[in-house]
Amino acid sequence: MERTLIKDLRSKIDQTVKISGWLQTLRDQKKIQFLILRDTTGLVQVAHWKPNDESLAEKISTLGAESAVSVIGKVIDNPVVKLNQLEIQLESLVVENAAESPLPFDPFAETLPTLDYRQDWRYMDLRRPVNYALFQIETTVEMAMREYWTKNNFIEIHSPKLTGSPSESGAELFSLDYFEQKAYLAQSPQFYKQMAMAAGFERIFEIGPVFRADPSFTSRHMTEFTGVDMEISWIDSHDDVMKVEENWLQYIYSRVKEVHGEQIKEHFGFELTVPTVPFPRIPMREAVEILKSRGYTLPADKKGDIDPGGEREIAAYVKEKFNHDFVFLTDWPVSVRPFYHMRLENDPTLTRSFDLIANGLEITTGAQREHRPDILAKQAIEKGLGLGPIQYYLDFFRYGCPPHGGFGLGLSRLMMVMLNLSNIREAVYLFRGPTRLTP
Ligand code: ATP
Repeated sequence: MERTLIKDLRSKIDQTVKISGWLQTLRDQKKIQFLILRDTTGLVQVAHWKPNDESLAEKISTLGAESAVSVIGKVIDNPVVKLNQLEIQLESLVVENAAESPLPFDPFAETLPTLDYRQDWRYMDLRRPVNYALFQIETTVEMAMREYWTKNNFIEIHSPKLTGSPSESGAELFSLDYFEQKAYLAQSPQFYKQMAMAAGFERIFEIGPVFRADPSFTSRHMTEFTGVDMEISWIDSHDDVMKVEENWLQYIYSRVKEVHGEQIKEHFGFELTVPTVPFPRIPMREAVEILKSRGYTLPADKKGDIDPGGEREIAAYVKEKFNHDFVFLTDWPVSVRPFYHMRLENDPTLTRSFDLIANGLEITTGAQREHRPDILAKQAIEKGLGLGPIQYYLDFFRYGCPPHGGFGLGLSRLMMVMLNLSNIREAVYLFRGPTRLTP
């Protein structure tokens, strides 16, 4: 018999159906057993009148919570049943996979174990409907990203993750043995998306894995994450890149609100706001002054940079002043930006770059890139890079490469800010950190 989803049961009143799912709870009474079954679309009550089949009753009474079962039964309209005002009168049951007991933890308990423990048993943690909703929303987010880009003539690339040289400083690089030589896991698709500009692709995007050998244990860093990158040609400045990003994000938020607005209210407890465009833009120099005027002291070692506390403080300022959740911090000092960021003509100590802060968290870095090979090489040397390993990259700019720029965004950081989550571990399917390689 074909499976019916729980959400479709109302259209099958008085029919015999098959449903498959997890046994969320069992109420084993004297004469009757109530099984609450869950599939990805909802919950339903299944009733078994014990005297009808004593041996089935016995089998059911030994079933552990979260067992995977299929049942066949008749759908009855019953206004007294709290769940959907219907129930299924059980005719037969197949135990597809019995759950051992006790469970590592009860995903439906009021108090959940620590996040770290739940990471050990991530597949149980993911059974919570809030997590199913999260990944449904993430699916829509990625669809919307692609929809926006393909409507606007972008093409998708997949660049290699095995590389022969670092794209920035070597600090956050995982290296591995590669036959007779060393290889590195790509810490961003930076060089390769710029190669697409040299190839004449004009507008590209990539969604793929990014690796960072960053030994930090923060609520927003992972050693492997999904990077969302784009690059566009023939731009006049980094403002052109910001314009694309804000319109793109507005589109993503509006699609998510359309499809999941109610689900977000139900599971995450708030109404999603679609951001207005343009997003506020604040040059870094001004941001530092704003922080000072609000009594926020940036750590001394962060010269020209901003720390997470500073990001939150600027976000608070932007919320008060512009009632906006997003802000582009622009024109970062050369000292805290990579060699390939183009510098401002009227102030070569600053770069044509930006970060996007969303609800107080950095989600993007972007810039116009330096596309003139002589200047690019000079900037690389200034930053202490040897030209040998990046010669192949410098060559991209030797035979006609348009002015270009782009950005990189962390998918899970976006999910974090969109759904108001406090830890990136809650926003990613499986977390990878300095001490976590399993499951
Ligand atoms: P941060 O300052 O937060 O460490 P970054 O400046 O190193 O980030 P970029 O190299 O500019 O980040 O990467 C672009 C985007 O990728 C970031 O804005 C962020 O959304 C995401 N990202 C960077 N590093 C990580 C990480 N370790 N884990 C998850 N996402 C990350």
